[in-house]
Amino acid sequence: MATDVMIEAESLSKRFGNVRALDGISFQVKKGEVVGFLGPNGAGKSTTMRILTCFLAPTGGTARVNGIDVFEDPLAVRGAIGYLPQRAPLYTDMGVLEYLKFVAEIRGLDAPVFRKNLGKVIDVCGLAQVLNANIGTLSHGYRQRVGLGQALLHDPQILILDEPTADLDPNEKAEVIRHIQQIGEDRTVLLSTHNLSEVEQACARAIIVSKGKVVADGQLEEIRSRTGSVRYVVGVDEKASEPSFKELEASLGGLKGVKRVSALPQEDSAQLVELAGDQDSDLRADIFRLAVDKGWTLLELHRESQSLDAVFRDLTQGDEALDRGRKTEASAPSKKQSSAEPEKSSDSSNEEQS
Ligand code: ADP
Repeated sequence: MATDVMIEAESLSKRFGNVRALDGISFQVKKGEVVGFLGPNGAGKSTTMRILTCFLAPTGGTARVNGIDVFEDPLAVRGAIGYLPQRAPLYTDMGVLEYLKFVAEIRGLDAPVFRKNLGKVIDVCGLAQVLNANIGTLSHGYRQRVGLGQALLHDPQILILDEPTADLDPNEKAEVIRHIQQIGEDRTVLLSTHNLSEVEQACARAIIVSKGKVVADGQLEEIRSRTGSVRYVVGVDEKASEPSFKELEASLGGLKGVKRVSALPQEDSAQLVELAGDQDSDLRADIFRLAVDKGWTLLELHRESQSLDAVFRDLTQGDEALDRGRKTEASAPSKKQSSAEPEKSSDSSNEEQS
């Protein structure tokens, strides 16, 4: 393994009874990268992260963090990473500072190191105002920030964050993402989410998983370009003298670079159509000139460059339905934990199957 590879999954597979949660997942994350681990619910994100953080044994394949096999030396791996599970492992009856001291003790940090790191954690996670508050009284957003704090307390170079913004309101999400951006400036981060805009804000690269497999892995620009088309929305005045959809379809469809024309629901007095244009095209001037030639009253014209959203939908179609089917089939117990319950180091016995 190259020395700058900090996280490596190689052909990871995992079965829970009849459920194939992971089906040969492989990827690498290099030093300093902030990578979005994207996929719909049930795609296998948490299972992968739980393997990487030594909470779960894979059925097959290997995982290495900081060059160390997760099951050869789990203690060394846990020392090298900070992990924030989907629900932060918090004790709701503790104060924030009391809890961070408790985490430091478990981590075996001595007092001077704790004091030094605590200052950074308070700063990066924005915890100054709530240090003496009881965790149980905090909003979800603040609880996640305390969760981030516990993950950072031993100053790990690698962070594994499992849907850290799930269940947060939009303001809280933005705040937590802002903290993650700051954390990512000098660390390696694997951030799982099904929220594309968070990936666009915080990450340069994404790995998209679907049905337990990696379906895309690359820089966001590269992944976006996979749509292969650019979307245009054109709106013309729908008054009687204006063209019918058939005319619009024939004329716009005749422009060089237009692959498809389809009708959109009418809005106000505008008849809207959607065009799929060639990748990297910009047909706005051609569309405008056509409207002038034809005497159409153009009410709307915009171009949407390739969106991550479109690629994501294409690549992960049908995933959630499959997840529901998988759960029914296996009568799987929920693995999600209550916010008051720290994550345990072993899993329920029905999970493992070789
Ligand atoms: P994601 O994090 O992408 O939502 P998960 O890794 O949680 O996906 O789940 C992947 C699949 O494995 C799902 O079908 C899920 O129901 C199943 N699964 C996850 N954990 C367990 C478990 N402890 N027992 C049984 N099935 C599980």
